[in-house]
Amino acid sequence: MAEPTHHDAQNDTAARSEWTAARRVVVKLGSALLANRETGALNSDWLASLIDDVADLNRAGREVVLVSSGAIALGRQSLGLPKGPLDLEESQAAAAVGQISLAHAYADLARGHGLSAAQILLTLGDTEQRRRYLNARDTLLTLLRLKALPVVNENDTVATTEIRYGDNDRLSARVASMIDADCLVLLSDVDGLYTAPPGSASDAKRLDVVTDITPEIEAMAGDAGSELSRGGMRTKVQAAKIARAAGCDMVIASGKRMNPLRAIGEGAACTWFLAPTDPVTSRKRWISGQLQPKGAIIVDKGAEKALFAGRSLLPAGVREVSGTFDRGEAVIIRSLDGRDLGRGIVAYAKDEAARIIGKKTTEIAEILGFAGRDELIHRDDMALNRQHRDES
Ligand code: GLU
Repeated sequence: MAEPTHHDAQNDTAARSEWTAARRVVVKLGSALLANRETGALNSDWLASLIDDVADLNRAGREVVLVSSGAIALGRQSLGLPKGPLDLEESQAAAAVGQISLAHAYADLARGHGLSAAQILLTLGDTEQRRRYLNARDTLLTLLRLKALPVVNENDTVATTEIRYGDNDRLSARVASMIDADCLVLLSDVDGLYTAPPGSASDAKRLDVVTDITPEIEAMAGDAGSELSRGGMRTKVQAAKIARAAGCDMVIASGKRMNPLRAIGEGAACTWFLAPTDPVTSRKRWISGQLQPKGAIIVDKGAEKALFAGRSLLPAGVREVSGTFDRGEAVIIRSLDGRDLGRGIVAYAKDEAARIIGKKTTEIAEILGFAGRDELIHRDDMALNRQHRDES
């Protein structure tokens, strides 16, 4: 069972910037955490603490999608199926029963925070076929826009051996890439990737950071079908490949503690698989994650569109500036109707900015008496919040 071990503050370091900067997070919860190993019952206190963490993240303006296992584990208990491996039909039957308990649990816990839980059951085809992929993506993005809490699982009841993931590690990585998540969290009963498969060597060490999936890293996860890869490290490393290819960081962290997401924020031990980044991406992460905005820039509808189309912010599209900021400081970019569109490093101080807003770029030099940058905020100096984008 997931033991509520309160973590040891002394072992914790600062949270990684990949975590603090992540605006959209996919969290995968393994069956071993959700269901009590002995009784097969739902670990409801633990799940409640996880949903508390999700609500905290939401309050901080961060979007969360859960990928929850546990349907088979919960269902086999209700059906009184014996311990040991189930055949495909039995696991499908168990999933059909267990998924109802899961959905109820999420709906109840989310409601306690004023959130609506939404159930999304996916099959391999939904992530591999373009049209279905786009459909699933639209539904997930709409749910996020409506501030619901999407809870995804594989549609085990209809997925057959040839067309199923079978593991939620890879499924969650596909979901993360589908919705352009910045971070994928795999909560597991282990706290990361060790230099040797679990149980094979006593001096195995946990890796803090993995920057490339080398054959050596794959070997650490163990071979397919070997007794030692039971912990599922192999599918986790495969998930890391999918996530990295989509520019999404992944972290394997222990879920055997209460409030496991808060623990990541407090720098708990885990293994990070970092997506390759270019300097612009890392700069944007830093902008969205690290800064205390000093003011706000209110932009018109046309500028808003231009920003989400990847353009820089020109003075012409700005209606208003507020706060007190200097050149090179961080400001919030806001829409006319008050949506928080993102943050950026501004190229002009507040007083200068106030004089050039609404004006053409060619007029800047004349108004200010010196030739500054054309853009008020250059696109490389800007990190936009996708969730506040107006899709209409
Ligand atoms: N979809 C399975 C379930 O809900 C879990 C797969 C996994 O554990 O990765 O029981």
